[in-house]
Amino acid sequence: MPLSTSHSSPRQARLLAFFGGTFDPIHYGHLKPVTSLAEQAGLDQVILLPNNVPPHRPQPEASSLQRLHMVELAVEGNPLFTVDSRELDVDTPSYTLETLATLRKEHGDDCPLAFIIGQDSLLTLHKWHRWESLLDFCHLVVMARPGYQEQLDTPVLQNWYETHRVTDAEKLKQKPAGFIYQANTPLLDISATEIRERRHAGLDCSDLLPSAVERYIESQGLYRE
Ligand code: ATP
Repeated sequence: MPLSTSHSSPRQARLLAFFGGTFDPIHYGHLKPVTSLAEQAGLDQVILLPNNVPPHRPQPEASSLQRLHMVELAVEGNPLFTVDSRELDVDTPSYTLETLATLRKEHGDDCPLAFIIGQDSLLTLHKWHRWESLLDFCHLVVMARPGYQEQLDTPVLQNWYETHRVTDAEKLKQKPAGFIYQANTPLLDISATEIRERRHAGLDCSDLLPSAVERYIESQGLYRE
């Protein structure tokens, strides 16, 4: 690991936050809560990680390349975001846990890493491959999402959540992994499903996603037939 070249205090840990998603397409329900989260948790970088979808699940309508382009267009010129296409660079779906293990190796044992998810993903997290090990590699940061309950499905899951939960975002920089932080982010009732459905119905989506993404969708004829 190279030593930090930052001119700020050398002991100030940097928290790298990764935000995975299918992004079919990326929308304001992703971008606005994450931007607010970055302010409240003092994140200076959020890395968007578009993913492949396992063959047994409904496939994205846009191709990997189109989803990647949409993510890039959505954050172009915004210094908070970078895009990591590693999961799309391979043909097979990657388990989030394995990507996080690779990221942990790349960044070293001491670097605080966070993985951002929405409340709906928290509620189904116990179905993810080796979900109990996620917190060995990163913190989880959860963004509220309208329409999804707060309570987890079983007492065991709820207990796991409460055991790891912290309410002070500063804690995320004090340990490399292991905490769950429930962010107080704005509630946006937007989903990619709704955008695809609106497009199929010939309806306008301009208030749901960045105009550069909307123009790209239009130019590619996406979500129309
Ligand atoms: P789809 O409708 O196709 O299932 P989606 O809108 O849920 O898609 P994804 O790309 O699957 O978008 O989501 C990526 C991540 O962003 C997930 O962790 C999800 O919980 C979170 N997320 C998506 N939309 C919102 C939203 N409106 N508010 C908070 N989190 C969200």
